[in-house]
Amino acid sequence: MYDIIIIGAGTAGMSAAIYGQRAGKKTLMLDEKGFGGQILNTPEVENYPGIKRISGFAFAGDLYQQATELGAEIVYEKAVGIEEADGVKIVKTDSGQYMGKSVILATGAKNRPLGLKDEQKFTGSGVSYCATCDGAFFRGRSVAVVGGGNTALEDAEVLAGMAEKVYLVHRRDTFRGDAANVRRLENRENVQFVLDSVPEKLIGENVISGLGVKNVKTGESTVLSVQGVFVAIGQMPDNQAFADLIELDKSGYIQAGEDCVTSAPGIFTAGDCRTKKIRQLTTAAADGAVAALAAAEYVNGLER
Ligand code: NDP
Repeated sequence: MYDIIIIGAGTAGMSAAIYGQRAGKKTLMLDEKGFGGQILNTPEVENYPGIKRISGFAFAGDLYQQATELGAEIVYEKAVGIEEADGVKIVKTDSGQYMGKSVILATGAKNRPLGLKDEQKFTGSGVSYCATCDGAFFRGRSVAVVGGGNTALEDAEVLAGMAEKVYLVHRRDTFRGDAANVRRLENRENVQFVLDSVPEKLIGENVISGLGVKNVKTGESTVLSVQGVFVAIGQMPDNQAFADLIELDKSGYIQAGEDCVTSAPGIFTAGDCRTKKIRQLTTAAADGAVAALAAAEYVNGLER
């Protein structure tokens, strides 16, 4: 029997594990894919207080080491639901089940697709959701990045260092991401902004040879001659497996305030999977601490 079962081993989940273990609680992390979560896709983290610069990969590795050296356990299984029996939470996975006194949902969010025809077919054959992972395949070639947030801006920056030409396709004429990131791109000779434009179709037989885009102001359609399309239009949560136990908002995020308390007693949440305005590394780590301390207090209450 675990005191705290954490579903998701990204920054929020691993931070929760550190705080859970340090509060003297037996803690288990479950993750379908491996530890690290979204930060693995970030080449350089420069905004985590106290660490001037670190790769996302190294950051995740350090967090993992910190959590497991403190005694947190980790199992690579997909949580598919939670049941309750006699006040115990039973977390069901795709290959077993784990009993816990409390649960922290730190399930993060997944990449939002463009919703274009053949997008799935071309994923891995020209369409990518991770510039850091796949950028090197497009060295010396032309690519399009879709999106106007910091992810798209950073992806364009990474790709500009490898690709011959980078088109940054955004549906408005101003960017959502930081001005500093926009300025860096403006100074790159091989980056071209394609503004007020939305992707219309993926062009190619077995691999991508172009991206059809439509200008939303003029209605004009053009084709960008690219071999790669990097999609960076935000994330979507994936909490439906728990929807019968906890309240979700209309977009599927877990309803919880800064206290990380969900609508179900003994179930807490942390990080990008909960309703919040700012989804950053710092806010994920902070949520992990808050949720773990709340879970520890809940477990102490059961034992009194
Ligand atoms: P965001 O939600 O910030 O941006 C998504 C972008 O995609 C927006 O520009 C949006 O357009 C556009 N978009 C959304 N849906 C569509 C669609 N269907 N078709 C075309 N365009 C679409 O997501 P990010 O992943 O960029 O960032 C998430 C969070 O993580 C943010 O808070 C960001 O600041 C943060 N982040 C921080 C980093 C850092 O500090 N180093 C690095 C990366 C991310 P519109 O603007 O018109 O809504």
